[in-house]
Amino acid sequence: MRPQLPQLIPSEICLECPVCCRFPDKQAALSPFFFPEERSLAEALPTKGSFRGPGASKAGLVACGHGFACSFFNPEDHTCLVYEARPLDCSMYPAVVMHSREHDKMLLGADTKCPALGRPSVAARLGNYLDSIQRYLGSATLSSLIRKYPQFISEFQEEVVEVRELSLGKA
Ligand code: SF4
Ligand code: SF4
Repeated sequence: MRPQLPQLIPSEICLECPVCCRFPDKQAALSPFFFPEERSLAEALPTKGSFRGPGASKAGLVACGHGFACSFFNPEDHTCLVYEARPLDCSMYPAVVMHSREHDKMLLGADTKCPALGRPSVAARLGNYLDSIQRYLGSATLSSLIRKYPQFISEFQEEVVEVRELSLGKA
């Protein structure tokens, strides 16, 4: 399995945050995407999470408070039930990969829905963090995975900042 990425936002900040893992509607397009290997790892754990379809797919969402949450989210303590096996989509957040508005480029940037980006200590490390994610996603292994499963790439999001073009490495 791939190594876990370094975390930009310290866990103690995330545990107090009401943003990640929660969504406004049950079919939210931005719910986490699992590559098949990631899904197998999550399914091997004794949890009751679900997926929206077979193979590479998005996590199922369940009613939670006034909206919905990832089915692997524990609303009691705001933790992830598959934390050690959480997908790349989650572990690299607030870095996100998306199509350009014109759909002709792949972009990497930081999602300003994450309130921690406003903290000076986080903002100071953001550029280096995105550089490291860019190198990681450009590696031959990840590039070929993303080519094979383009569902990993989200649609263009206006609120993503520090945007740079992402080139996939050679197959
Ligand atoms: S939105 Fe940011 S601070 Fe909140 S849980 Fe997600 S990564 Fe952590
Ligand atoms: S897999 Fe875990 S980290 Fe990712 S959205 Fe679900 S609960 Fe959150």
